Amino acid sequence: MDEIVLGGQTIPFTLVRKRIKNINLHIQKDGSIFVSAPARVPKAYVLQVLHEKEAFLLRTREALLRRQQQAPPPKAFVEGETFRLLGRFYTLKRVRTPGVAAEGGALLCGPGDPKKLVPAWLRKAGECVFQKAANTARERLLAQQFPLPEGVQLRQRRMVSRWGSCNPARKAVTFSTRLLETPYPCIEAVAMHEFSHFLHADHSKAFYAVLERCMPDYRARAKILCEEAYRIFYNE
Ligand SMILES: [Zn+2]
Repeated sequence: MDEIVLGGQTIPFTLVRKRIKNINLHIQKDGSIFVSAPARVPKAYVLQVLHEKEAFLLRTREALLRRQQQAPPPKAFVEGETFRLLGRFYTLKRVRTPGVAAEGGALLCGPGDPKKLVPAWLRKAGECVFQKAANTARERLLAQQFPLPEGVQLRQRRMVSRWGSCNPARKAVTFSTRLLETPYPCIEAVAMHEFSHFLHADHSKAFYAVLERCMPDYRARAKILCEEAYRIFYNE
């Protein structure tokens, strides 16, 4: 990795040669600059371009680093901490009754280690909710005579930049664990989106035609989800 000084800051950058026509720049998650350039372009010219784009690079980098700082801290699972489920807020409260339960605005946690009990409970809640949303998506597709594979496996895991994914070859749909924080109609929209990928693997017009036929208010739900993304991932 090389370094370049822009606006008084030393910034690492990686230069990769590719079979492309133009020089492409972007800021990576760690704040370093990634440059891809055609083989014939001298490095001195690449550096010149970086200096010419200084204002843009510094602005983009600062915005990215600021967003990362604003990302919500990981949960500590302590009394009084707020959790969000299906769009509603719950405050963690330790109680004597065994187990975990969401009641009113409280997430009640009985005796034991809340760091283990609460995540296990959230996982179970996710399984139920994602299963329900998947069932709805399946029913809506079948009602429109769209064929679906049998025995689709549902999974949930932490995902950084997506709400869900579909692997048609493996007959598997995966939901982001953070999706459980969003309102239920949004979760249904993600299930609908992922299940529609069993018919079209891409995001073509044909794919959206299926989606909108099965869920006419898909776009409205997706819009809410987009706002949720900022709230959840950037704490905005
Ligand atoms: Zn998709």
